[in-house]
Amino acid sequence: MLRVESISAFYGAIQALRNVSLHVNPGEMVALLGANGAGKTTLMKVVSGLHPPAKGKLFFSGRNIAGLPAERVLRLGVGQVPEGRQIFAPLSVLDNLILGAYVRFKGENKTDIHKDLDSIFEMFPILRERQKQRAGTLSGGEQQMLAIGRSMMARPKLLLLDEPSLGLAPMVANGIFQTIRLLRDRGTTLLLVEQNAKAALRVANRGYVLETGRIILEGETEDLLNNKEVQRAYLGKEYREVWE
Ligand code: ATP
Repeated sequence: MLRVESISAFYGAIQALRNVSLHVNPGEMVALLGANGAGKTTLMKVVSGLHPPAKGKLFFSGRNIAGLPAERVLRLGVGQVPEGRQIFAPLSVLDNLILGAYVRFKGENKTDIHKDLDSIFEMFPILRERQKQRAGTLSGGEQQMLAIGRSMMARPKLLLLDEPSLGLAPMVANGIFQTIRLLRDRGTTLLLVEQNAKAALRVANRGYVLETGRIILEGETEDLLNNKEVQRAYLGKEYREVWE
């Protein structure tokens, strides 16, 4: 569904991505791991059309999308839940969700949009309760639910999730991972960026490790969980104790 071929990207003189290649198959969930500044967000922005690649090719459903404006990429079916949620704080929860469907406003039956709104409320009952509340007054976890719900309202074929658990208490983060699992089980194709490598590798099918702009490792999640380098750099103490 998504094929990234030898993409390089810069911010002025700073090279953030170096010949990055990866792919995501339909119905698959792929995790992208890496430390701070590895280039994960830049890759998400390149895919969603928010940052132009300097070099390389980018195919979505067989179509070259490199350099297309973000709105076109979204209309083609690539949704994004950005890092830091970026909800519309002064607007109500309901308006945030409805705006998520704006690419469907023309030419689509309003009933379909309302049906999707209902399914988002089923997935996140708290958002139904809070639908009239200003989005900026929601808790961090609720804002993350709203950001996911808003992006689902565009009915994306591929969803890019950038650090959905960032800044959330462990229990709240667990809830978000349960939602991600649900999306995966429903067949949503997902590319997940996470610093919480353990949680990401538990839900994903495959993974890539990005280091200073380069893919240094890739494989089935099982293989990555068993990889000593991944255990040392990303999985923490208990893994080291089990495996060493
Ligand atoms: P984090 O986990 O901290 O969000 P990341 O893996 O998502 O990190 P990026 O945000 O993609 O990393 O950053 C990759 C590199 O590009 C870093 O060296 C970063 O400092 C640099 N960078 C990112 N955004 C900009 C910008 N707007 N201007 C200049 N340099 C930038």
